[in-house]
Amino acid sequence: MSKQPPEQNDVDRWVRPDIRGLSAYHVPESGGLIKLDAMENPFSWPAELTDRWLERLRTAKINRYPDPHARHLVEALRQVFAVPEQVSVMLGNGSDELIQIIVQAVAGQNRVVLSVEPGFSMYRMISRFVGVDYVGVPLRKEDFSLDGDEMLRAMAQHEPAVVFIAYPNNPTGNLFDRDSLCRIIEAAPGLVVIDEAYHAFAATSMADVLTEYSNVLLLRTLSKQGLAGLRLGFLLGSGMWLSEFDKIRLPYNVNVLTQLSAEFALQHHQLFVQQTQQLCAEREELFAAMSDLAGLHVFPSRANFILFRTPPGQADAVDAGLRTRGVLIKNLHGSGALLEDCLRVTVGTAAENQVFLSALSQVLYQRGS
Ligand SMILES: *Cc1c(COP(=O)(O)O)cnc(C)c1O
Repeated sequence: MSKQPPEQNDVDRWVRPDIRGLSAYHVPESGGLIKLDAMENPFSWPAELTDRWLERLRTAKINRYPDPHARHLVEALRQVFAVPEQVSVMLGNGSDELIQIIVQAVAGQNRVVLSVEPGFSMYRMISRFVGVDYVGVPLRKEDFSLDGDEMLRAMAQHEPAVVFIAYPNNPTGNLFDRDSLCRIIEAAPGLVVIDEAYHAFAATSMADVLTEYSNVLLLRTLSKQGLAGLRLGFLLGSGMWLSEFDKIRLPYNVNVLTQLSAEFALQHHQLFVQQTQQLCAEREELFAAMSDLAGLHVFPSRANFILFRTPPGQADAVDAGLRTRGVLIKNLHGSGALLEDCLRVTVGTAAENQVFLSALSQVLYQRGS
């Protein structure tokens, strides 16, 4: 082939049609805006801690490949999160990578991945990339609770290899009913992955079912707690599952700097616990203030974000108005019938939340000005 730019014909011939039909995951430009769109922790570290972290990084051997099993880091995670001895741990370059590995491991003809809608979009996207059918079972319209009977019916029909459930759910923020989840686990023909990305904010966990059911895996991440830039997720479950998944994990998926930095951060886990508690308090204040705004429907949240519904037909204008006033949130309008007129705001610092609130009331009540 020539050194010219590729011909569209060649691209069309060789790239899978289902990939060409996708649109790329869109991350909006956030320059200069208050970033309340991606569930990041808004706090920085005390300067003294940053200094010690940088000191630690001096020891990083970046000329060497990382420890492929990240033994020190796994040990630190086991201690901080009290992982029982009989439960195995597998690390990912973010929990997104672990979702990808799980789906790759089960992929094949007539294989189905099942989750709820609205749910975390990566379950659907990764299933598409990997070439596995995805089934999304609608949550209840009023409160986004789990329709247990509908789930069981869909599972009987589609026999999913994996059911993904985020607990609390993203983008709705609620926790599903525990008994319904247990019924789903008992009825599932294959794996059930409980994704606790927002565990730190939820004050509860399904972790105890790990030792009760052999078909459950628990997914966690350090991203939402303050280390999104490191990309570290971890999967907990039976070694019989994890040792199979480990075969398709690329050998050095967690890099030297991430291993060192995450281990350092876990030695100072108390700081993250404090920041998390602070954000939970901010969430309650933000929820109360938003609930006072006439015309909004605000959904209760057990995570570090709040979903809300604008008056009919106004979500795009509210989103744009907030952006004009310097605040970036997530517009979910148009991403599924149940999310009509819905926006999602991440809980920020007290000052950021104030800017958001006053911008929001301006946009809602003084539109045109
Ligand atoms: C953010 C998020 C993830 C991905 O987290 P990373 O570890 O940053 O890849 C996984 N699951 C849910 C439900 C999330 O909201």
